[in-house]
Amino acid sequence: MASPPVHQTRRPTVPAAEEILGGYFRVLDHGFVALVDYMGTDDDVERAARVSYGYGTRKVSQTRGLVRYLRRHLHTTPSEMVELKFHCAMPIFVARQWIRHRTASVNEYSGRYSLMPLLFYKPEEEHFALQSPSNNQGRAKQSALPGFDADGLAPSSDFYRESVERWNAVRSRAAADYTWLVENDVARELARIDLPLSTYTQWYWKIDLHNLLHFLTLRVDPHAQWEIQEYGRVMAGMAKRVAPLSYEAWIDYQVMGSRLSRGEINALARLVSVADDGLAARPGTTLSDDDLAQCGLSPREVRELKAKLEPGPVPEFDLDLDKMRDAAEVAEEMQAAVPRGAAGAGGGTP
Ligand SMILES: Cc1cc2nc3c(=O)[nH]c(=O)nc-3n(C[C@H](O)[C@H](O)[C@H](O)COP(=O)(O)OP(=O)(O)OC[C@H]3O[C@@H](n4cnc5c(N)ncnc54)[C@H](O)[C@@H]3O)c2cc1C
Repeated sequence: MASPPVHQTRRPTVPAAEEILGGYFRVLDHGFVALVDYMGTDDDVERAARVSYGYGTRKVSQTRGLVRYLRRHLHTTPSEMVELKFHCAMPIFVARQWIRHRTASVNEYSGRYSLMPLLFYKPEEEHFALQSPSNNQGRAKQSALPGFDADGLAPSSDFYRESVERWNAVRSRAAADYTWLVENDVARELARIDLPLSTYTQWYWKIDLHNLLHFLTLRVDPHAQWEIQEYGRVMAGMAKRVAPLSYEAWIDYQVMGSRLSRGEINALARLVSVADDGLAARPGTTLSDDDLAQCGLSPREVRELKAKLEPGPVPEFDLDLDKMRDAAEVAEEMQAAVPRGAAGAGGGTP
């Protein structure tokens, strides 16, 4: 990406965020996320919390301590003073999950005004999966059901190929019909009505740091659909560049941290006591699942407590700057996917 002209500003800026500003990062096969603007950084969280004057009077260690305190204790409004604005393209089924987050300002590409780029999401084979038998909202990790390979670890390649052919048949038909309709001057708002959920849409999405971190907590979580997690991971990498101390606190308290219920605290208090100079294990104490049930935990809560106490690796969410693309290249790709020959092909978003 070419270096932008340098302008002087009195606004607080962050070199790591400036480095990626306006750069496009691919997500899934045709999607992207770009941080197009931001306002403020960790210093602004602190300034708002203290309602203080001017910049540069505090050490990083002091700012870090305060940012962490605020996040631990859910003093959330100071982090609402930092804002981030993204340009994103995602399949419509991802957009439907994303739009449930009501605390952002959104402006979506208009399929009434503009021609839709005929780009459809195709899951890669490694992310293709059968229905989970235990989690109605999830993918099976392993199964002896028909369609899985001999090890029961993944759907077979033949099965994947047949599924892709079936998806492609629907998409080709939908794309051909959309193209025919717009070429025959049917209103775009009608021509688009049978485009599938895999069609890419795009929007500008502006949100404050507090609500972004809430969105990311829910959407980088393994319970979220893998496709939206992919967006969350890139946006977490962007948030890390805008407000690294807030990001670090978010990882520690939200991503890797957990709340404990009364029953869970009761159970842990039977194993560990508070001593004057720290914590002490109660000698010889173990708790069976039955003991945990007596602490008031349901079988599901017992499983969840065990998962809390065996956290996975700390995620990094770093961006690969070698993959950053510039806006013109991405716009050209989108433009190339718009039906040719339709009246007004290439119209932009109003
Ligand atoms: C893994 C997963 C599975 C899901 N499955 C489903 C599903 O099957 N069906 C479905 O419909 N949804 C589903 N959702 C969506 C989910 O129920 C929430 O709507 C979505 O995650 C947005 O969360 P939120 O309301 O906390 O976020 P936001 O809308 O960003 O709101 C942030 C916070 O602001 C406050 N807030 C915002 N608006 C209001 C309001 N009107 N009143 C009070 N407080 C408000 C709340 O404190 C809220 O937590 C799922 C979400 C996840 C992560």
